[in-house]
Amino acid sequence: MKTSINLKPTIFVIFGGTGDLNMRKLAPALYNLYADGFMPKKFAIIGTARKKLNDQKFQDTIKEGINSFSRSGKVKDDKWASFAANVYYNPVDVSEPETFGVLKTSIEKHKAEFGADTQVVYYLAVAPNLFPLIAQCLATYDLTGDEESVRIVIEKPFGRDLETAKELNALLTGIFTEKQIYRIDHYLGKETVQNIMAFRFANSFLEPLWNRTYIDHIQISVTEQLGVGDRGGYYDGSGALRDMIQNHLLQLLCLIGMETPVNFDADEIRNKKVDVLKAMRPFSSDDIRMSTVRGQYAKGWVEGKEVPGYRHETGVDPDSNTETFAAIKFFVDNWRWQGIPFYVRTGKRLFQTSSLITIQFKDVPHHIFPSAVTEHWQQNRLIISIQPEMSIRLQVQGKRPGLDMVLNPVDMVFDYKGTYTSAAPEAYETLLLDVMTGDQTQFMRADQVEIAWELLMPVVKSWESKKSLSFPNYTADSWGPEDAEALIARDGFHWFTLPLNKD
Ligand code: NAP
Repeated sequence: MKTSINLKPTIFVIFGGTGDLNMRKLAPALYNLYADGFMPKKFAIIGTARKKLNDQKFQDTIKEGINSFSRSGKVKDDKWASFAANVYYNPVDVSEPETFGVLKTSIEKHKAEFGADTQVVYYLAVAPNLFPLIAQCLATYDLTGDEESVRIVIEKPFGRDLETAKELNALLTGIFTEKQIYRIDHYLGKETVQNIMAFRFANSFLEPLWNRTYIDHIQISVTEQLGVGDRGGYYDGSGALRDMIQNHLLQLLCLIGMETPVNFDADEIRNKKVDVLKAMRPFSSDDIRMSTVRGQYAKGWVEGKEVPGYRHETGVDPDSNTETFAAIKFFVDNWRWQGIPFYVRTGKRLFQTSSLITIQFKDVPHHIFPSAVTEHWQQNRLIISIQPEMSIRLQVQGKRPGLDMVLNPVDMVFDYKGTYTSAAPEAYETLLLDVMTGDQTQFMRADQVEIAWELLMPVVKSWESKKSLSFPNYTADSWGPEDAEALIARDGFHWFTLPLNKD
């Protein structure tokens, strides 16, 4: 349990202070941490960007962001006033390094006021091409400190391939120590994702079943109803493989596939995740043909409204080869998982927004019931729903009440809403608090990022070099291209979905 009691005085410098991420996520998270008593007693938040604003204007801007996007609704006047008194703005243009001089003066002023044990967190909420420049300017102005006094948070995407990820790692580790670098993957801060570790390693009944003897396959499905919206310019240079699978989906796969850590130390947990990535079967060209599917959405209708196809979205090349959907069958070649497929899929403009992990167990070895009794037979499944529903379901066979013997699948459900009354924190709240307390468990280590890229590079290169002749190949409001169904159907399975929540 973390509390603010031991938190050192903290100066939070947000590069990209006027940007979308700060408005939607960072500012609301910092405000909620403050409102819940999790900010240090002494703190300063310094927003930076090129725009010329004063402190008051910046405070007004983020107040609007918090009021629009915070999970706790609009700010409370008294809380806001005391929070805002710690919020400052300092114009910085990364392409004009001398502007870092003013930032340094401002940081030093707060440090002098807060005391020698003050820590500084630099949050890089800017386009990735600015990451190296900012790191270099911090070094030039001697603002890099050590692991006790300075931390740097790097947003995704971390590189756009193995080579650029290695370059960025080399640059950052030339300036900071690994212990100072927090590569954020906000999926890892989600309450339900954190609960995977608790569920797997705090309950004894699962471990004997958690292997190739009892599990027949695993599905990880992260689907979005929205299209690219106004992020077409960014997304067209990225795509589903880079934007989702290289980071979020592989991290979920690691949490499901990892061995039991010896303890809860950040590096021990990250070592166990890296072991999964190291054991993943590399892709041959045949595997790419048989085990991967890419898709791009066509125009269609969503909730009675016509929506454009990907190639007609703002900022997107009208002849784009970028995939907005990807499905891949992975294997983890180790004793625990040999031969067990891990199917992952992700995409935009799909039928439902949901993040779901489904672990399907093997069938009973021998059916004792007559077939008339088992018309609705279903192998046991464990379904971890990350969003929108936050739940864990165990699907088992039960006897339907009545004089005759009829079996049907029933769900044993652990639902957050029904179990807990307290609101779950947003992922960014959890992760920002981790940064302040110096806990790197939920952040990506350099080797984790590189090995994930290494695994996917054959697919990245193949998809880039061979233009898809079938794009666009799925309509809005569908479950993606037909080939994605075939990918899993060939092995005798189908993609699992939860019924839409009617709440
Ligand atoms: P954004 O809305 O375009 O904001 C970019 C910020 O950078 C603005 O504050 C901009 O302000 C500032 N900036 C641009 N050029 C600058 C320069 N030369 N010197 C100093 N500041 C400069 O982008 P975003 O959506 O917030 O995304 C920021 C980062 O977070 C990206 O790496 C993105 O991939 C990542 N991310 C975003 C989200 C999200 O929900 N938005 C989610 C996950 C990850 P000025 O124009 O005033 O300088």
